[in-house]
Amino acid sequence: MILSEKPAFVPSQSTSPYQDSVAAYWNAERNPVNLRLGEVDGFYHHHYGIGEPDWSVLEGPEDTREERTVRELHRLESAQAQLLADHLGPIPAEGRLLDAGCGRGGGSLVANARFGCQVDGVSISSHQVEFANRQAEKHGVADRVRFHLRNMLDTGFESGSFDGIWNNESTMYVELSQLFAEHARQLRRGGRYVTITGCYNDTYGLPSRAVSEINAHYICDIHPRSTYFRELAANRLVPVSVIDLTAATVPYWELRAKSHLVTGIERSFLDAYKDGSFQYLLIAADRV
Ligand code: SAH
Repeated sequence: MILSEKPAFVPSQSTSPYQDSVAAYWNAERNPVNLRLGEVDGFYHHHYGIGEPDWSVLEGPEDTREERTVRELHRLESAQAQLLADHLGPIPAEGRLLDAGCGRGGGSLVANARFGCQVDGVSISSHQVEFANRQAEKHGVADRVRFHLRNMLDTGFESGSFDGIWNNESTMYVELSQLFAEHARQLRRGGRYVTITGCYNDTYGLPSRAVSEINAHYICDIHPRSTYFRELAANRLVPVSVIDLTAATVPYWELRAKSHLVTGIERSFLDAYKDGSFQYLLIAADRV
């Protein structure tokens, strides 16, 4: 070993034992509720759905019931991704977007299909990054949509290089003060930030039993609503839209709870939303 040689730059990934455990979770994750739904059209999402389901999928011919339920849950999770993209735009084809905590990459492909622009996605799960890059190839957009094994708190991307950044259900894995500082650095002035997230409701108090169950299930740390606005304001991100999607996501959970795709966390989500301790929010903000 030549000690005087400068080590090659390795983009930072996991920076703590906690982040190692999050990466291990997502590297091992193979839930049918994530894989079967993505197989419908090749857009793999790891987030929840919104909108009124067609409840008839739970009835009718038994031999097609599971397939119809899969398609319906996928339609609802796709509607969520489209709503997020609505709040990013308009983004010109020569624009550039960052998908922070990108999962298997479905959201990046949705944004590229809508805007035609370059999209970079980052995840600390190597399995997800490899999977997502394969999907970009299958969709024929690997020259525009690229996935990277990087930590969203320290991506190594150039300052001011993005027109838009989003977190779709990935903010609960990090401290918002660090996340929003990194986003403010990477966004150009006037750029747009969007998140869809579950947060606990300050008016309830501290996290309820159901919120704590969700934290334990996913190894995450759901933030209170207040922390979002405090840390956005502290990091030059000024909210332009705030939408409470709680009522819109409850039917997704009710359908999922009655389906063959249950993972065991459905009751906690329904309890948390219904007892008022948990909210599903979209927040869009401008970088000033
Ligand atoms: N946004 C995706 C996936 C949400 S699941 C979707 O909508 O489908 C949460 C994601 O956050 C996982 O991909 C996980 O690997 C990622 N994540 C968690 N902590 C991270 C970190 N510090 N840096 C980058 N990605 C992280």
